[in-house]
Amino acid sequence: MSKFSHVTAWLFDLDDTLYAPETGFSKHMSKVQHQALAGQLNIDMKQVKPYLLALVEKHGGAPFTGLFKENAIDMDLFIEEGFKLDHGMLSECAETVSSLNKLHGGKFIFTNSPKVHAENVLKTLGLSEVFDIQSIFDVTRLDYDSKPLKSSFEKVLIEIGASGESCAMIEDSLPNLKMAKSFGMTTVWVHGEGDKPDYVDYAYTDILTFLKDAAKLS
Ligand SMILES: [Mg+2]
Repeated sequence: MSKFSHVTAWLFDLDDTLYAPETGFSKHMSKVQHQALAGQLNIDMKQVKPYLLALVEKHGGAPFTGLFKENAIDMDLFIEEGFKLDHGMLSECAETVSSLNKLHGGKFIFTNSPKVHAENVLKTLGLSEVFDIQSIFDVTRLDYDSKPLKSSFEKVLIEIGASGESCAMIEDSLPNLKMAKSFGMTTVWVHGEGDKPDYVDYAYTDILTFLKDAAKLS
């Protein structure tokens, strides 16, 4: 028996989980998105962040949920403009790919980003074959429901036909892990800073350190 031997389904967050925050890629993504939103909403760049925070406060989940519920923008246009990114900032790590391949059980992506972004990032990381289309639960597939809303977790669990107790969630975001724990999931925090909260079972410096441990022990 090991700490992961009960896990039959692995739910991976995408951004800042499968690649390191130090790549600067998610910061770059925020900037491009904020530019796209400022243009579409006809507001100043400085106003975008407070606007998104207010949406999250009102609707919960990620900004995508609020943008959808408020019918604030042309979502297809935003996805097109806000995800034109410099993928050259990311690179494939052969060890991560082989460690993921060694991991037993179902492997899924659960992300608050849209499908086209998930596909582009996974392709750049050399992970398209590890995570096929059917294994990607993105914000569009979930009808703009998003983490950490309870309903988004319920939808994913129903689709993959798993109980929370049989899943492990691998994430950089603490609110998402807190919700995962409320479903009985094993919670794995990567790229975190500071003390590990009670609802986090295991913390790792990065995804590869976790994968080496999990592949060895599961
Ligand atoms: Mg993340």
